[in-house]
Amino acid sequence: MMVRFFPVAAMVLGVMSLSRGAEAFCRTTTNADFVATTAKPCDDVGTPLAWPGACVGMVVANGSKQVDLATARSVLQQELDLWTTAAECSVCTGMPAGHPSMKVTVGTAGGCTAAEYNQESGNSNTVSYFDTGWPHANNVLALTTVTYSKTSGQIFDADIEVNSGPSIPLTVGDPTGLKVYDLLSILAHESGHVLGLSHTQLANTDATMYPKYEQGQSFMRTPAPDDICGICTVYPVGRSATCDPTPHGGYSSVCGGGGATSTSGGGCHCDVGLGHDEGPVTMTTTFVLTLLGAAWIRRRKK
Ligand SMILES: [Zn+2]
Repeated sequence: MMVRFFPVAAMVLGVMSLSRGAEAFCRTTTNADFVATTAKPCDDVGTPLAWPGACVGMVVANGSKQVDLATARSVLQQELDLWTTAAECSVCTGMPAGHPSMKVTVGTAGGCTAAEYNQESGNSNTVSYFDTGWPHANNVLALTTVTYSKTSGQIFDADIEVNSGPSIPLTVGDPTGLKVYDLLSILAHESGHVLGLSHTQLANTDATMYPKYEQGQSFMRTPAPDDICGICTVYPVGRSATCDPTPHGGYSSVCGGGGATSTSGGGCHCDVGLGHDEGPVTMTTTFVLTLLGAAWIRRRKK
């Protein structure tokens, strides 16, 4: 079933390679089994992921003892704008002047705090804070779950979960020299995953999509030229696409709607199987910290 889509993937990647250097950004693809290595940092088998339209709506489901709801919304919008309306594609060699053809708007509605996709009812693209009850490993700072079509790479839903428990001191101020985690850097990095980017190659040490982060750092707050080249490749200047921020299946703040595929707690690589070629698969990417420094773990098929 998948094989007949491989020529499409090869074509997309072939075009992509024309504007990419040897040590550039990587896109997330439909190849959920891919694990980056030094020899092969970017997948070249699956179809790259992207939102099909020109805009996406997100909501913040809750605040935190560390970050009130209004601040959580404003810093998310600020970081999403740096990826989209404030990004200038001409910093990338060979690209025209202009912004990526994507806009993400943070609304004031609520949202389901679980990272899930409901194939039979409404959805919300959500950021959730967990002061208690963090459903993932203790060394995970934040996690983005993207649900997409296995065949087209079209993104259906994306949810960010942030670990805001007492052992994870977060700041929206200057973290330099402090044993704190920069929420703006975390949101910027996870926003890159929401938009379809994977971790960049290790040479790009100043990139928002660099896979390693340590306490006190803030360099990920502002996307670097490598990040901008990535986002402008996924959503080129002048791309013809309509803007409809309504989530797939309509907006709903209710958890566990029809056909829900929840990944909170399970971290599963679920194929919810619609029974035809457009069946989505859920993939999770993780932003990890360890006591020994930063490390990167990509959640894999169990
Ligand atoms: Zn990441």
